[in-house]
Amino acid sequence: MEYFDFYLMHAQNAKNFQKYKACRAYETAFELKKEGKIRHVGISFHDTAEALDRILTEYPEIEAVQIQFNYVDYEDAVVQSRRVYETAVKHGKPVIVMEPVKGGKLVDLPEEAQKIFDSLHGGSNASYAIRFAAGFENMMMVLSGMSTIEQLRENVSFMADFQPLSDTERAAVEQVQHIFRSQGLIPCTACRYCVDGCPMQIPIPDLFSVANAKKQFPKSDYTGAYAFRTKGKGKASDCIKCGACERICPQKLPVRKLLEEVAESFE
Ligand code: SF4
Ligand code: SF4
Repeated sequence: MEYFDFYLMHAQNAKNFQKYKACRAYETAFELKKEGKIRHVGISFHDTAEALDRILTEYPEIEAVQIQFNYVDYEDAVVQSRRVYETAVKHGKPVIVMEPVKGGKLVDLPEEAQKIFDSLHGGSNASYAIRFAAGFENMMMVLSGMSTIEQLRENVSFMADFQPLSDTERAAVEQVQHIFRSQGLIPCTACRYCVDGCPMQIPIPDLFSVANAKKQFPKSDYTGAYAFRTKGKGKASDCIKCGACERICPQKLPVRKLLEEVAESFE
């Protein structure tokens, strides 16, 4: 390639930002932009609104901000979708949305939430999630993972002639948000950043996923699912509490404590 359209500084947070600054990554990217090798310099971001404010104040040349934004994380204390988005807008930056469907989690909804969307007699669960994100001002792009041609066709169908959520649809999303807030699910996005560094080979996001499923559908039996997920790997109780996972987790999850709860619940 002769140039990059968008060159994003990966996974910026307060800590990574210091490393990038120390090696003059931003200055280097801006130089490459002047040379025409990069068209636009941006960042992908996982941290608090205050941390983003600091980065955009120090480097006003940043042209776009990619953030995790979906209706479940909108008011989440850790992800802070709304506050982070508002900070990007305050600095006049176009926003690129990642995780609009929360890694696919907003496709398979709890029964109670599913009934609310079913009552609209309209689009799919993914369409409500993506349209929720795309309906905000300054949204430049919504990145949705798609694993089948059907998903791609469906996404194109409602984004080609985009309509923001109607008042009725927005009210339905608010009801679903409330259901998620009252369930106490583990907000793991299954990015799997933590998995390779775990000395005990614990499939952390897979175990959180089983734990969440148990919270969502408590009547089902998850003994087999837990055994399957841990076969030939570490179990939650194998955690030696080294903390490597927590240092890398973009969601800042208290993985060690959560694994204790998983062990108690499943072992
Ligand atoms: S704290 Fe536990 S789960 Fe996390 S990396 Fe260490 S051993 Fe693995
Ligand atoms: S625990 Fe954190 S790092 Fe690991 S998969 Fe979940 S969100 Fe990603």
